[in-house]
Amino acid sequence: MDYQALADLLFPDVTDTPEALEERFPARQVPEGAVVTRMAPSPTGFVHLGNLVQGLTSERMAHQSGGVLFLRVEDTDAKREVPGAVEVLINTLKHYGICFDEGATMEGDKGIYGPYHQRQRASIYHVYAKKLVAQGQAYPCFCTEEELAAMRETQEANKENTGYYGKYAVWRDRSMEDIQAQLDAGNPWVLRFRSTGSIEHQFKFDDLVKGKLTITENDIDHVLLKSDGIPTYHFAHAVDDHLMRTTHVVRGDEWLPTLPFHIQLFQALGFKLPKYVHIGPLMKMDGNSKRKLSKRKDPELALTYYKAEGFPVAAVYEYIMTLLNSNFEDWRRANPDAPVDSFKFNPKKLNPAGSLFDYAKLVDVSKNVISRMSAEEVYSLLTEWAQEYDPDFGGKLAADPEFATRILAIGRGGKKPRKDLAVWKDAKEYMGFFYDDYLEKPDFGTAFDKTVIADVLNRFLASFDIGDDANTWFEKVKAITNEIGFTTDMKAYKADPSSFPGTVADVSTFIRLAVTGKTNSPDLYTVMQILGKDRTISRIQAAIAQLN
Ligand code: GLU
Repeated sequence: MDYQALADLLFPDVTDTPEALEERFPARQVPEGAVVTRMAPSPTGFVHLGNLVQGLTSERMAHQSGGVLFLRVEDTDAKREVPGAVEVLINTLKHYGICFDEGATMEGDKGIYGPYHQRQRASIYHVYAKKLVAQGQAYPCFCTEEELAAMRETQEANKENTGYYGKYAVWRDRSMEDIQAQLDAGNPWVLRFRSTGSIEHQFKFDDLVKGKLTITENDIDHVLLKSDGIPTYHFAHAVDDHLMRTTHVVRGDEWLPTLPFHIQLFQALGFKLPKYVHIGPLMKMDGNSKRKLSKRKDPELALTYYKAEGFPVAAVYEYIMTLLNSNFEDWRRANPDAPVDSFKFNPKKLNPAGSLFDYAKLVDVSKNVISRMSAEEVYSLLTEWAQEYDPDFGGKLAADPEFATRILAIGRGGKKPRKDLAVWKDAKEYMGFFYDDYLEKPDFGTAFDKTVIADVLNRFLASFDIGDDANTWFEKVKAITNEIGFTTDMKAYKADPSSFPGTVADVSTFIRLAVTGKTNSPDLYTVMQILGKDRTISRIQAAIAQLN
């Protein structure tokens, strides 16, 4: 067979050469050891936690090493494409601090290794397709869907491996005349790889996450170009990652089964194989067993979920870090205020079997992250969230930034900051009582006589002075306690509760309920300082009226 003639027959319009392309896309000028990597999403519109894991891993590897991170849009499957999906992806990742240096952008392609949308690269793939045909390593296949389905049925009935291989690879060694006849008849064809691999052979492979693997060779003549001339993922991956000078391929481990084929392709094309970082799936506990997070069952897989719940971006980011690098938490404890990108991320620390997503842990991380923020930062993030997801609350926050910031400053700073908020959704429950519209009527219960409670509140009002410092304020509360025959000696009370009608804690609770509507609140003295004299007094008066 004259393979060159076949190549010319199949690709008459391809005049460009691999050599010319090598020159057009020269080696990158990056520092020694720099990682050049990419995200290569299919634009399906669903941005999930897995994208973030992959994005963060590749972003850290690239930028930590002084390398390049680019975005390539794998739009070869027009049926799955959702309009606007690329924009959503770019914006979502940017929201999480993952910015691309090159590739597809909101303003179009940026960089000299483009185009970065695969559908615009058809002519480039064809140059290499032609080369493989000329080398005798690819051939056209005219099998119809029906023929392939019948073949599969036979294989299944015979309990054989399925696929286009060995004796089933019926177009592998057909004559030029047969091929010409099909072409003349206008029959569609795909281009297949001529595999020389054997499933009897194995070889060793080193993956940056999975470690040393023993891999079985591929014997299937996979499709390189579909009948419309558009490449399959496999072929496009080899051509693009070579020409875009990718040094590391960071991708999901669902690609591991086809890795043997990819390795063959790189060899056949004369390309240096990049390093591979195959990331395991995100798992979760479902009862007693682990399973992959699923788009259908788990709302927490979608990144929009975190935004709506009100997890700050920094919290999700830190949680993912915790998930991927087990030493991150220790590092964070030792460096509570260090910028997160000063942590040395290491892909080798990823769990080869996939990470276990743990919601409770995320909540914990988020509480820590929020507790370390300044009141101003919390105010601005919370207000932004509330304006979108709880406009009424958002409006109140925005109407008086100083008031809200003072509330949010309670218990902040110092060695042991308060950890009241895990998500912005929690904020209304935590601080809503500061706003008269959200103040709930206090429920004083039945343990104490109403007249006793009203007496406490009246005495408090009589002695209340907003100018008191915290000490004086509490001394007054203690004085009231003693005046009504309750005790301030908590030790004595604990030893023999029945000998006291009540304690200073009860007195505080009466006042707290009157002022906040709740039995739990941040420091009551501070709450009154923020509410101010008039609101404090009128709330207590209202409570007294309610008790009468
Ligand atoms: N388009 C492929 C996917 O979305 C990309 C895999 C890769 O990163 O190479 O899974």
